[in-house]
Amino acid sequence: MWAELAPIGRHRDSGGYRRYAWTGADGDCRDWFRAQAEARGLTLETDRNGNQWAWLGDPLAGDAVVTGSHLDSVPDGGAFDGPLGVVSSFAALDELRRRGVEFTKPLAITNFGDEEGARFGLACVGSRLAAGQLTVEAAHRLRDAEGVTLPQAMAAAGYDPDAIGPDPERLARIGAFVELHVEQGRALDLTGDPVGIASAIWPHGRWRFDFRGEANHAGTTRLTDRRDPMLTYAETVLAARREAELAGALATFGKIAVEPNGVNAIPSLVRGWLDSRAADQDTLDTVVAAVERAAREHAERAGIDLDVVRESFTPVVEFQHALRDELSTLLKGAAHGTGRPVPVLGTGAGHDAGILSASVPTAMLFVRNPTGISHSPAEHAAEDDCVAGVTALADVLEGLACR
Ligand SMILES: [Zn+2]
Repeated sequence: MWAELAPIGRHRDSGGYRRYAWTGADGDCRDWFRAQAEARGLTLETDRNGNQWAWLGDPLAGDAVVTGSHLDSVPDGGAFDGPLGVVSSFAALDELRRRGVEFTKPLAITNFGDEEGARFGLACVGSRLAAGQLTVEAAHRLRDAEGVTLPQAMAAAGYDPDAIGPDPERLARIGAFVELHVEQGRALDLTGDPVGIASAIWPHGRWRFDFRGEANHAGTTRLTDRRDPMLTYAETVLAARREAELAGALATFGKIAVEPNGVNAIPSLVRGWLDSRAADQDTLDTVVAAVERAAREHAERAGIDLDVVRESFTPVVEFQHALRDELSTLLKGAAHGTGRPVPVLGTGAGHDAGILSASVPTAMLFVRNPTGISHSPAEHAAEDDCVAGVTALADVLEGLACR
């Protein structure tokens, strides 16, 4: 399965993946998913929001156990973020069939559409639509960098954009959803465990900082006469790092837009986007407030106008404790472990499982990523660890669907 997926959407120069929603590469991933479902005698369904479901047993029976992840990628993403969860789901089903277990509940494997939001700028569109966390109107307004709207992109790929919207009946048929994912940090590498269980997804958000000064000539304007917003922006970046360190949180300015954006021009506008995440809401609020306060102080001293706008926010997602504890019990003493209980860890990254957790009992398994690098071609997991992940997922599915 891994070898078949490997070439799809891979960029020749960067070696990274460019599997964006509703593009040819996305379609090829969907065809691969369909072939995997057919090869196993599963019933393929594509829901109104473009998410794929491969069913073993009756989809309408209810109390289904569902596992899966996504196949799309960020720009020049790695091979594991998303596909590891989908491939592991099919491999876990193969393992359960090898064990000869009897399923007492319907089982489904999913591929959620447009998880990364690389094309339209909003993550988890497929699961958000299904869960009613994104309105049809807002989804219809989404536009990519070329100006193509989501409805146009869906129609071009052969899907009906007018059919999208909340799908509560479908979600109500799910008894438990388990997503396996490559870890996007080094927690498991540090504990020495191949597999972990998610406790929660940290609250996170994006804030846009607009620093406005005065454009002028870089060669003729005396330093003391300048109102240079780049300086205030730079002070703010340093403040974000300092405040995040103090609070044990994360704060990153990773995107910037400059006007007029000339080498020999003092900028009139520097627009920077702050991404901040923390284990709890209070800490996140404290960090963002401190960064904004520092930015305002520097702006005032330098004669710079500052606007701060919160562009998005996702509150903390606590995965259901009962299901999480059940996973811990199912994985206790299993062959993939170290003899210790499987570690339970939080994550700063968003997932479809986080979106669905508002409607459905949801849990996540993480597979060790030795460098912690994610959203990059350098993202990696060792084959032994991937196999340990499949075994763990099979143990969990057996416990949930075969009682
Ligand atoms: Zn992912």
